[in-house]
Amino acid sequence: MEFKTLPHPSPTPAADRTAALVDPGFGKLFSDHMVVIDYVEGKGWHNAMVGPREPIALDPAASVLHYAQEIFEGMKAYRQDDGGIALFRPEENARRLNASADRMAMPHIPEDLFIEAVQKLVAIDRDWFPSVEGGSLYLRPFMFASEAFLGVRPATEYKFVVIASPAGNYFKSGVPAVSIWTSEYSRAAPGGTGAAKTGGNYAASLVPTREAFNRGHDQVLFLDAVEHKWIEELGGMNLFFVMDDGTVITPPLTGTILPGITRNSLIQLLRDEGLTVRAEMYSIDQWRADATSGKLLETMACGTAAVVTPVGTVDGKDGAFTIGSGGPGQLTNKLREQLVGIQRGAVEDTHGWVMRLD
Ligand SMILES: *Cc1c(COP(=O)(O)O)cnc(C)c1O
Repeated sequence: MEFKTLPHPSPTPAADRTAALVDPGFGKLFSDHMVVIDYVEGKGWHNAMVGPREPIALDPAASVLHYAQEIFEGMKAYRQDDGGIALFRPEENARRLNASADRMAMPHIPEDLFIEAVQKLVAIDRDWFPSVEGGSLYLRPFMFASEAFLGVRPATEYKFVVIASPAGNYFKSGVPAVSIWTSEYSRAAPGGTGAAKTGGNYAASLVPTREAFNRGHDQVLFLDAVEHKWIEELGGMNLFFVMDDGTVITPPLTGTILPGITRNSLIQLLRDEGLTVRAEMYSIDQWRADATSGKLLETMACGTAAVVTPVGTVDGKDGAFTIGSGGPGQLTNKLREQLVGIQRGAVEDTHGWVMRLD
């Protein structure tokens, strides 16, 4: 598909951009451009454009505003040690967006069109990489129903958009272990939308997330919606449990958790290390017992934004417990360094995960 390119008529002055890129934080600074592609049933995807980042005009009856037909992805472009730029497994993000589209009755976007859109945005905004060490350009591709129609059925018109947000090193000095709150609320039930990356799942997680924050915790933990005992995932990160016998457990993809690309990559890296990874149900009571007896050495949370993060303490209605020493564990540190190294071109990419853009 031909992309129309419309450079920003008044881009951010270089001095302002440079100043903003020193400490961009996460999710609050945006680059100058965006990609927009339209979809109409019967016509397909058309009007691909890389243009100035600007508000999107929507009819007040646009179905996304009423019935939340929306899906998104989260990925990063990484500055390489040799000065180049690379994406990490972008075809996995394209595939997952289409899997989310299936669940939300939305159209597929061809995988190569998805990747081309992301590449075009990174190319036009290549001066927006943070100057801080460990910084990256966070990319947010998303799709939503734009048709003006209040009846309840899948929309016939959509927009696919990609925006970019410079992101600092998630952790400025070392990696602090996070403290988590076990919520009584459920995030996703069997047959629901838990495996789709859709805004509605996050809407449902905001009250429990606020509750965790108010209690002084960093993250919320969700248990399964039926028995309320099986560990599922954090608000936006998957979990791994490291045992003292060299096995690592991660909750299985039963449809109620999000199939993380970081999760998938860590399973591979752990197996490369010769460790046994089992995707199996693990209960909150077993977690507490194993942490207390010392059988459980480490717990790590993982996702694109924070890469690999140690879980230090767990609290909930049955009281708190500590994982290991309460700080980052050995395997957690090692895996984070390995993954970050692959993403930045400092560690050999033996699985063909890195897509260089230059
Ligand atoms: C995106 C997301 C993750 C992590 O997925 P990655 O592909 O590793 O970034 C985990 N859980 C939820 C709920 C998510 O939305």
